[in-house]
Amino acid sequence: MSNVLIIGAGGVGRVVVHKCAQNSSTFQKITLASRTLSKCKLYQQEVKNRYNIDIDIHKVNADDVDDLVSLINEVKPDIVLNIALPYQDLTIMEACLKTGVHYLDTANYEHPDSAKFEYKEQWAYHNRYKEKGIMALLGSGFDPGVTNVFCAYAQKHYFDEIHTIDILDCNGGDHGYPFATNFNPEINLREVSANGRYWENGKWIETKPMEIKMVWDYPQIGPKDSYLLYHEEMESLVKHIKGLKRIRFFMTFSQSYLTHMKCLENVGMLGIKEIEHNGCKIIPIQFLQTLLPDPSTLGERTKGKTNIGIVATGTKDGEEKTIYIYNVCDHQETYKETLSQAVSYTTGVPAMIGAKMIVEKKWQACGVYNMEQFDPDPFMEALNKQGLPWFVEQL
Ligand code: NDP
Repeated sequence: MSNVLIIGAGGVGRVVVHKCAQNSSTFQKITLASRTLSKCKLYQQEVKNRYNIDIDIHKVNADDVDDLVSLINEVKPDIVLNIALPYQDLTIMEACLKTGVHYLDTANYEHPDSAKFEYKEQWAYHNRYKEKGIMALLGSGFDPGVTNVFCAYAQKHYFDEIHTIDILDCNGGDHGYPFATNFNPEINLREVSANGRYWENGKWIETKPMEIKMVWDYPQIGPKDSYLLYHEEMESLVKHIKGLKRIRFFMTFSQSYLTHMKCLENVGMLGIKEIEHNGCKIIPIQFLQTLLPDPSTLGERTKGKTNIGIVATGTKDGEEKTIYIYNVCDHQETYKETLSQAVSYTTGVPAMIGAKMIVEKKWQACGVYNMEQFDPDPFMEALNKQGLPWFVEQL
């Protein structure tokens, strides 16, 4: 029985709109707002054709707090889902605070001028959200998101104390292009070309990009080269998982992807500072994004599976144990269901579930929270029902 405002009509936004429409007994009124109205219209039509549900659409500049406030005052949502880019996190959080509406996102704040992401500025809203009696749920995608919930689930059901966590993210899909990213190219390339970082014995240890590699045998996919990256969920997990001694994040990349990325980096195409070109000011990575395929168009041509999970080691009743919790998602299946590839799907479904937890009051709190701070059980149950079933193996 709720009214949801979704901001951002990209690859992930499409999945969120479809999944909210599939859950229309929870989300009775759906509004989609974004920078480009034609994309909102496309998704509005898809939802009408597939589910016979009418959604409202609006144009909004999510960099502008006043524009957001007037949209929120007009739509009067119970919750705003920020499915735009990490650059808009603070403006949308500010607008939610001004209007007294719950907030949710899938990626933590990043300033356009520095490829560095951290929760500091979003956590700084905690007391103001608490005083206002509203909640912000940060990072409700897959990773961050489901991976945090998997950790909380392991903690609750399998361990007295968790000592190490490896988060393992494999996209075994093939879209047939020589080079493309599966979510927003600018955000994706900034993330994977940065230095790696992991946490051990209370300290962050920095590595060169792709310096640490291992091969992991991903169920239903097979062995893949997996590289250590910094990933934002580690920042909150080190605070909230008791007894943790080490946490790392690995993602798979093919040799071809890495060669393309290195070459683009070497010629300056990943640059984030403005340069002058023939009298025009351009930012190289944004120009590259214009050339690369739009991730929201990859769905139809992507084949294969994703497998994302966590391996946790620790103790229970004095015994050492290792648990692997993971989900496998098939690109063609998700395309059939939501016209989207599995990377958008695995992000959009948890965003909808996070909103469902809040509006159905299964997760209730005032302030700013990360996913692992809530009871994982209702979220895990919803994953099984909403298209992202998971497995637990004892290794
Ligand atoms: P896209 O680039 O496909 O979509 C972003 C959308 O936001 C576009 O429709 C864009 O508009 C809109 N937008 C951008 N800036 C503004 C603005 N100022 N005002 C209004 N709308 C704006 O990205 P994705 O869908 O691939 O990714 C969405 C989010 O999901 C990102 O934050 C990404 O980091 C996150 N993500 C999280 C994952 C997780 O597991 N936690 C995994 C993958 C992604 P326009 O159409 O005009 O460009």
